[in-house]
Amino acid sequence: MMINTTLCYIERDGKYLMLHRIKKKNDINHDKWIGIGGKFEPQESPEECLLREAMEETGLTLTSYRYRGIVTFVAGPDTEAEYMHLFTADGYEGTIKTCDEGVLEWIDKSRLLELTLWEGDKIFLRLLEEDAPFFSLKLVYEGDALTEAVLNGTKLELPFSPLSHASRASSPQGEPLLISACLMGAACRYDGKRKPMDGLDRLQARYHLIPVCAEQLGGLPTPRIPAERTGHRVLNREGQDVTAQFTVGAEEVLRLARQFGCTKALLKERSPSCGHGEIYDGSFTGTRIPGSGVTAQLLAEHNITIYGESRWEELLWTFP
Ligand code: SF4
Repeated sequence: MMINTTLCYIERDGKYLMLHRIKKKNDINHDKWIGIGGKFEPQESPEECLLREAMEETGLTLTSYRYRGIVTFVAGPDTEAEYMHLFTADGYEGTIKTCDEGVLEWIDKSRLLELTLWEGDKIFLRLLEEDAPFFSLKLVYEGDALTEAVLNGTKLELPFSPLSHASRASSPQGEPLLISACLMGAACRYDGKRKPMDGLDRLQARYHLIPVCAEQLGGLPTPRIPAERTGHRVLNREGQDVTAQFTVGAEEVLRLARQFGCTKALLKERSPSCGHGEIYDGSFTGTRIPGSGVTAQLLAEHNITIYGESRWEELLWTFP
């Protein structure tokens, strides 16, 4: 029979209500700090289990909660997986009562890592803190040691940094991300206008952004005559061949990507330099065809993973 459980972090004023499991004998969680929750009863839904467990363990009636993800626990070979339905709650009524399973205490979120936590809990606590979209996380343990973690089907490198985006961004180790300078609002577009993308603040909280403009680095002026790829050449709207400048710019971007250790790039879609997977066809009529810009193609050939600006949110939930 499948084992289903719930776990919930009740929030108030930047704190989580944590349960220090010190009361039960033979408790697999003995001395660990965890949220509240427990096993499903027959025919319960995740929400019904959550509400019952919250009442039983804390005396509180939850009035506002969010279903945040599913965590699959494997506790060793030949054991059955446990599917833990993870919630947070920010509304409740009632008064906290004494819990039979441990001691309840409001803990400031910034102090969570000072507690004795399961290694895998640090991963989902980070996902909760960073407001990750609904996720599926698999955690495999051997005894107390976390041996594998897979987030939304992608294996995470262990040990996993439990630091939040904000903490990592302020450290010199913030992951470098190459970005088309025009997406950051630089006036480097062919028309000289500034068009910053949405979400820059969230990306900057997570990454060390490295802005580059291949066309400027290739020596082209701003503003400039718009250009499009035609086969292996790049021609501007007046028919002048600017392939050489585009090629120099692409090589310069690749050099900078390597210098900063970038493995990912966020590039302007459909540009004859930065577009990836789809570009304009060279007729200057707005017709799109499969293909990539000169810079995007060179970066992809050198194993740099490229995201167009419409996929920027995916970058918040990919981990090095
Ligand atoms: Fe520069 Fe690339 Fe933006 Fe074009 S798309 S302006 S090359 S950064």
